[in-house]
Amino acid sequence: MEHIVIIGNGISGITTARHIRKLSDKKITIISAESDFFFSRTALMYVYMGHMKFEHTQPYENWFWKKNNINLKNGFVENVNTQAKEITFSNGEKMNFDKLIIATGSKPNKFGWPGQDLKAVMGMYHKQDLESIEKYAPNNKECKRAVIVGGGLIGIELAEMLRSRNIPVTFLVRERSFWNAVLPAGESSMINRHIKEHHIDLRLNCNLKEILSDENGKARAIVIAETGEEIPCDLVGLTAGVSPNISFLKDSGIELGRGVKVNRFLETNFPDIYAIGDCAEQHEPIGQRRPIEAVWYTGRMMGETVAQTICGNKIEYKPGYWFNSAKFLDIEYQTYGWVWAQPKENEARFYWEHKDGKKCIHINYDKNTREFIGINTFGIRLRHEFFDKVLSEKRTVDYVLEHLEAANFDPEFFRKHESEIQHSFSNQPETIS
Ligand SMILES: Cc1cc2nc3c(=O)[nH]c(=O)nc-3n(C[C@H](O)[C@H](O)[C@H](O)COP(=O)(O)OP(=O)(O)OC[C@H]3O[C@@H](n4cnc5c(N)ncnc54)[C@H](O)[C@@H]3O)c2cc1C
Repeated sequence: MEHIVIIGNGISGITTARHIRKLSDKKITIISAESDFFFSRTALMYVYMGHMKFEHTQPYENWFWKKNNINLKNGFVENVNTQAKEITFSNGEKMNFDKLIIATGSKPNKFGWPGQDLKAVMGMYHKQDLESIEKYAPNNKECKRAVIVGGGLIGIELAEMLRSRNIPVTFLVRERSFWNAVLPAGESSMINRHIKEHHIDLRLNCNLKEILSDENGKARAIVIAETGEEIPCDLVGLTAGVSPNISFLKDSGIELGRGVKVNRFLETNFPDIYAIGDCAEQHEPIGQRRPIEAVWYTGRMMGETVAQTICGNKIEYKPGYWFNSAKFLDIEYQTYGWVWAQPKENEARFYWEHKDGKKCIHINYDKNTREFIGINTFGIRLRHEFFDKVLSEKRTVDYVLEHLEAANFDPEFFRKHESEIQHSFSNQPETIS
């Protein structure tokens, strides 16, 4: 019987296994060095915050895998032999495969900072990171201050986690405004303000120079590159982005860029070896998407796609329109289509912010055809299906403004603010960025 081996038990690997099982009775083995059972990485923060136990982050009961005849193997894969179709584990054990799916996810970036490997320095990605955070920041007596390095979605989550235990947080952000490579100025400054309201010591335009050690090899302070300021701390969180977790493949002959290079069928340069999820890099970006997309739903979609291909129905990966969602402390964020940090030449913008400074919408459209291109929404939850339809029907910005009420989960809100939003839209200057 054909043996399908999947390295990685995150959303990508697990989705693949479930779909292959739905479609066939092939032998399936899922390997992970991180945890015995699949858990939701996006829920990890809530374990520290006391909203759930770790077991609650596991979407399936532990018996599910045996019942569905999916083998789980705990181990770290050190080497892939593409000719012999064999993998080797760090303990020397070997395993053969007929088809291999690489779904090894990401790892937190480290940029060679002095002190980056000291004790009490960690990312916020793996289950083991969560355990380290719990160890070094159990409360604000043992952790008198934490420093977070790198302003992005994971950094702000870590700040929220630590603040939930009243631990003072200094947040070093290299950019001059929070996440401004992605967010336009209006949204970015709204989040700057919101971070400060949460009593987080936000330091914009600041890079880490080094992390200083105490006599036991544990971080005791960080130094800011620009000013030389030394900030004493008991924990340093490195959240300056993630990159594909693929160093174990460097001698395998599998083509690598930043990630494992794949085509639209998620195939590598070897037949029967595929890569999916955070660790996969498209040879050619799809539309305006990035070649590597480290988000949950694209991992799931790639898993579904590759399962079809492996079960004889070869299909291309087609991710559809871009969307994403996240939370910045109390403010929910969603984006549909494209709203770049800076408008492109053919684009015009409409930005509306509620007077409470915690809600806004930012619409991007083509200034010649008025076709809707994308929307950012903060503090107002809008319907995915609505924007999928608007984008596929190539509707105009005027249509979207007229139908915002239908897009909203809280029609009351729009009834109250609709005329203000529409009035502000008709009176805006030609382009607001
Ligand atoms: C704190 C946090 C919050 C996030 N929030 C969001 C969000 O709100 N929305 C969103 O879309 N995305 C979010 N993400 C990103 C999302 O979680 C990832 O895109 C997704 O989990 C990637 O899934 P994956 O299956 O590709 O890889 P992973 O989940 O990383 O799984 C890969 C697994 O492979 C294992 N592995 C790696 N190498 C080996 C090896 N050599 N041998 C054995 N096992 C190996 C790893 O240990 C890991 O268990 C968040 C991520 C983090 C860390």
